[in-house]
Amino acid sequence: MKKQIVIIGGGISGLATAYWFKKNNYDVVVLDKNKEPGGVMESVTNNGFMFDRGPNSGLEVTPLIKQIVDEIGMSDQFIYADSTGDKRYILRNNILHALPMKPNLFLATKLFSWKGKLRAMAEPFVKRSKDGYYQSLAEFVSRRLGKEFLDYAINPFVAGVYAGNPEELSVKSAFPKLYALEEKYGGIFVGAIKTARARKKSPETAKQSAKMFSFKNGMQSFPAGIAKYLGNLVNLNCDVSGVYKTETGYKVAYTQLDEEKSIDCDIVISAVPSYSASKLFGGIDRQLAEHLNEIYYPPVIVLYLVYKKSSIQRPLDGFGFLIPSKEKKSFLGAIWSSVIFPTRTTEDKTAFTLFIGGSRNPEIADMDRDSVLKKAIKEFQEVMVINEKPIFNAHRFWSKAIPQYNVGYVEHDKYFAEFETNNPGLYLSGNFRGGIAVGDCIRNSDVLYNKVKEFLDSKNKID
Ligand SMILES: Cc1cc2nc3c(=O)[nH]c(=O)nc-3n(C[C@H](O)[C@H](O)[C@H](O)COP(=O)(O)OP(=O)(O)OC[C@H]3O[C@@H](n4cnc5c(N)ncnc54)[C@H](O)[C@@H]3O)c2cc1C
Repeated sequence: MKKQIVIIGGGISGLATAYWFKKNNYDVVVLDKNKEPGGVMESVTNNGFMFDRGPNSGLEVTPLIKQIVDEIGMSDQFIYADSTGDKRYILRNNILHALPMKPNLFLATKLFSWKGKLRAMAEPFVKRSKDGYYQSLAEFVSRRLGKEFLDYAINPFVAGVYAGNPEELSVKSAFPKLYALEEKYGGIFVGAIKTARARKKSPETAKQSAKMFSFKNGMQSFPAGIAKYLGNLVNLNCDVSGVYKTETGYKVAYTQLDEEKSIDCDIVISAVPSYSASKLFGGIDRQLAEHLNEIYYPPVIVLYLVYKKSSIQRPLDGFGFLIPSKEKKSFLGAIWSSVIFPTRTTEDKTAFTLFIGGSRNPEIADMDRDSVLKKAIKEFQEVMVINEKPIFNAHRFWSKAIPQYNVGYVEHDKYFAEFETNNPGLYLSGNFRGGIAVGDCIRNSDVLYNKVKEFLDSKNKID
């Protein structure tokens, strides 16, 4: 079989990229080893409860999200989070403190001590670092905003986003916009004011002000909807084993339900996790395989719990809470799922999603699963003042959940760019490049589409 473009991986990254190609009449095909599209975006229904086992929501950071949703006819499925979810809590000394989102609330909060607040407010007077390039997020934040801000704001925040550890994450790679504020403007506060002015002119929305969205039947509806639009261009149960150079382009070898097959093509886009991609390109570039293999994906357990509303003594007035590692709990935080998206359960019940493990506690992978879950449920019930057992619980163990853009990642990223330059027509995408959030994956799909289009246009001119 001969195709112009083969995309390996039918998660949101691969499918959104395929979407732009199909819309613009390119000859494209997607191969995925799973029997359903969506990758880590998994939504399931069990005992009448619908829940997400991967991402629970996305942030509408780019108009491209709504554009795809509308164009594939899913507008009636698209839902925004209830505004109650705007309030977020952080646990300190077993008390949930609302995260202060305005200067007056920052001054009033008991989440930080006065010493901690004054130290954070001194940020504009902190000098720029001479060597920001290899700094961890922890080094960057404690230098600019102080240790208490790191421990009680940033540490829980990165647990919520990356299931990550600020001591290991690279500020430049994991939070490039934050890093750029110091690089360009000398500090975070000054930079934030200046970039907010510039952003007003752009169609993109900053993560902190973007609206949170999902779908009536969960996040997997999105990749499933794109796959439906793509129709027979999406081939499931196709486990790709390697990509090889040919005289005219590339060959993608795969097994579909025990049958060995291959496709010849001009363009190969890899949209699989880095540890999978490392097995595909070893024949073309051994060093690339090593770089891809070095990206760490910690294990995470997603635990879904449903309680009778009457058994919860705490007011349900927010998105949920995150836990700083200093609090020494066995889970990272909890999303109050049916508060944000009320249609997730009936009026008399409340659904929660807890996250356990991550870079903070990777040992959960080898521990007795029941004990890990029991401990998390016990601690969760204490925080929420819940006096009855959950009426339903289910969990999903991800042995390799989310790629960590750790210190040293810049070297991998440099090599990925070099690999693409040395092998025209091969592209590496997916959430280990350019951001892990669903919104990042959508934005990157459009950037990649334009890059490939430019390459094909220039190739056509030469031919
Ligand atoms: C538990 C969890 C919670 C998250 N929560 C959020 C959240 O709340 N908000 C948010 O914005 N983001 C969240 N994320 C991150 C976000 O969901 C992911 O970064 C994003 O969905 C990744 O999409 P992807 O297409 O790049 O990769 P994946 O979803 O991993 O898709 C890769 C695809 O490649 C396929 N594949 C792999 N190897 C092969 C092979 N050899 N041959 C063929 N196919 C192959 C796989 O089957 C898979 O379908 C979360 C992630 C996890 C795991």
